[in-house]
Amino acid sequence: MWRGALITEEGIKHGYLIPSEMKFEESRLDYRDFYFSKTFFNAHTHLGDAAFKEAPRMDLEKLVAPNGYKQKMLNSTSPEVLRREIKKETEFARKCGTSHFLDFREGGLEGLKIVEGLDGIIALARPKNADEAEKIQAFGFAYSSARDHDEELLKKVREIAKRKKMIFAIHAGEKDCGDVEGALELQPDLLIHMNCCEEMLRDVITMEIPIVSCARSNAFFGLLNTKVYKILKDYDFWMIGSDNAMIASPSLLEEMHFLSYLIDDDTAIFKAAIRGYELFNMKYGYVVYNRNYNFRRTNDPLKTLVRRASAMDIEAVII
Ligand SMILES: [Zn+2]
Repeated sequence: MWRGALITEEGIKHGYLIPSEMKFEESRLDYRDFYFSKTFFNAHTHLGDAAFKEAPRMDLEKLVAPNGYKQKMLNSTSPEVLRREIKKETEFARKCGTSHFLDFREGGLEGLKIVEGLDGIIALARPKNADEAEKIQAFGFAYSSARDHDEELLKKVREIAKRKKMIFAIHAGEKDCGDVEGALELQPDLLIHMNCCEEMLRDVITMEIPIVSCARSNAFFGLLNTKVYKILKDYDFWMIGSDNAMIASPSLLEEMHFLSYLIDDDTAIFKAAIRGYELFNMKYGYVVYNRNYNFRRTNDPLKTLVRRASAMDIEAVII
């Protein structure tokens, strides 16, 4: 049992964290021996490319579009190596408090097998055709962009997702509005990016489709748009993710640090890092922070968590 203070979006709660029951019990006395928070939910990853760090600096298209650099690297790396590196990458992120990864799994059924049974990975598969989509058992389906794929295939897979009660996710508005209408026609359950389509952002918000921002990835490609994050921070369906593992580590602590310099609302950033549990109805874990380093003399532990907490501050991750 740990005694301390739980960091929440509504403020600090004092009490006991009981690992055997996975629950936090409030106390009447104020304790600050440790700080606690929920674990983080990374709402968008491509973990496979952890096997080829670091990404060369090039245009979005050349790097990640079908037949681009990334696809060539994936094709030339064995499934065993991919699995080993994905496992390592998630172990590292877990030590830093990120326990769940909503992962865009490229490569159809075979791609899906690579992450089978790995802790914390919630796979969204990318079937090559409708037959494959029928066979796949996963949390959902996900495609790169409406402009990259055959419209008929996307529509069919969308239908299959609905029937099998799986979610359907797609990238949109990453470099312009060109693929947003195509994405919306599919009535997606989840949109990734929208950073470069401020014009249609309000439509998506009205439709209450969850949106995932990946600010470090946007910055890498020169597509950073702070204005959009500032709108999204107040959106009840906003989450954050780390995108390609060859570009950014899947630890959400680092994603939060980066965002905290762009938008002045650390509570909104913290909420976006844990919102996945509520939206997808999943169980979170707890992170225990010691008070030896960054949390020694802080007047606002939530701000410290969002702005600078690191692996050194983490005493335990309870899942
Ligand atoms: Zn992505």
